[in-house]
Amino acid sequence: MAQVGWTLRGRVLVEHLFQELTDTYGATSPLAGFRVRVQARQRVAGVWGSWKKWDDVIINEDDAGAFQVSKIKSHHNRRFRVQVQFKSADLVIFGAHRTLLRQVSRALRLRTLRSLGAELVLDQLLQHFTRLPYQADWHTIHVDRTGNGRRAGVIDLGDLTFEANAPNDLGDRVAHRQAELWFLYSRVMALFEGLGQDYRFKKKIAVKYPHNNPLLGDRIEASYANPENHMVYIVENSVWDDYARIDYMLHEIMHIWAYQHSRREKGMAWQLIIHGDTHGLQNRTWVAFHEGFAEWGYHQVYRRLFGRNPTIAAAGTTDIQSRPFKRSDLISRYGLSSLEQVDRHEWGWVSILNLLTTPDLVNYTFNGNGRYIARTRARPNRALVCDDPALAFTDVLRLFITNRRSGAARQLGRSEMNLAGFLQRAVAVVPQFDRTARTAVLSLLDPAQNTMPRDLLCRPRR
Ligand SMILES: [Zn+2]
Repeated sequence: MAQVGWTLRGRVLVEHLFQELTDTYGATSPLAGFRVRVQARQRVAGVWGSWKKWDDVIINEDDAGAFQVSKIKSHHNRRFRVQVQFKSADLVIFGAHRTLLRQVSRALRLRTLRSLGAELVLDQLLQHFTRLPYQADWHTIHVDRTGNGRRAGVIDLGDLTFEANAPNDLGDRVAHRQAELWFLYSRVMALFEGLGQDYRFKKKIAVKYPHNNPLLGDRIEASYANPENHMVYIVENSVWDDYARIDYMLHEIMHIWAYQHSRREKGMAWQLIIHGDTHGLQNRTWVAFHEGFAEWGYHQVYRRLFGRNPTIAAAGTTDIQSRPFKRSDLISRYGLSSLEQVDRHEWGWVSILNLLTTPDLVNYTFNGNGRYIARTRARPNRALVCDDPALAFTDVLRLFITNRRSGAARQLGRSEMNLAGFLQRAVAVVPQFDRTARTAVLSLLDPAQNTMPRDLLCRPRR
């Protein structure tokens, strides 16, 4: 029987759901990095047979969303089906899997376990919440349902865009949102990749959307990043639709970055579930550190990806700036009235990290009213020489990772996730950040002081 050439091709795109992505990339963008599966079937004795896999291909980042599968096959007409799975070596998105969750909760026989105490129950639960039982869905983005099938040659399916009202799973609300999440997280991963080999995400990131834990009441359930299995859970239930919040998406992936670049941290997830959340004043500084870093990291990533400041509420108009808070603001807004409270609060850490990364500190005052430190009107004093110990974004990231040359032989650990430990690491790792800088930072953060950066970082020119 004559064998002939078949080529099936198309492009996979997403219509952006997040305003930030529309503003930055336009209404649609090509997708890349995940598996595309092409299947065909032919008519046997007048009946369409079962789907046969022709090939799985990965769309390359440079291919503008284009995929292509070529085969030498018989000339008989065929119908085609194209599916995608949001899964690669670096990122995977899992769907709802409600039946699995029900099975897990049944298997745990909660009523028995509850007598052993809530913490044990949740610990047991988390052991079962490994990634292993989850599956990434196959989304059908094209299928020939009618007609006599296609003829051999080049078949171009054109643009297959995840968008509202599109056919098959292209128009499915969850599949569309997963496609957008894939695009967003791919951009974040590329950003860190671009900073250098040391800063990239080190292990595959797993995301579960939509997530609704049947063991938790809808009102108290919250999206979170699990340090046990490095998985982001994006909650959607009768009360919350966390997907609508790009700030949550970016905050959670920054948690994952911190987990992947610090010593293995157990206990964060159960703490979150038991105590409702990990926000506000904490007894353990490392909890506040993780929260503060994830929040600050999201602000950094947001500015780098979208070229503007994030806002306080998702659709808000009040910018989150990159400067530290004034002392009066730490006291009035967050109730942080002493230095030892600052590193026990997530927004205390946001302020710490902004203080470490603000250039030309000597031009600012930390005193007076208003949210952020303000520029002083004082003219530069030529008789003084002043330090500028500001850390770059990558300097802050470097504080997490092994750096034998600088004496920080191990990854950042919980025992260093406090102001003293973190600054000690900065002195060890960052050349321009010396003991004078450390003293200055401690003084400027202290809500009980009224020192100015100029007093702490300048000295007479000799
Ligand atoms: Zn968080």
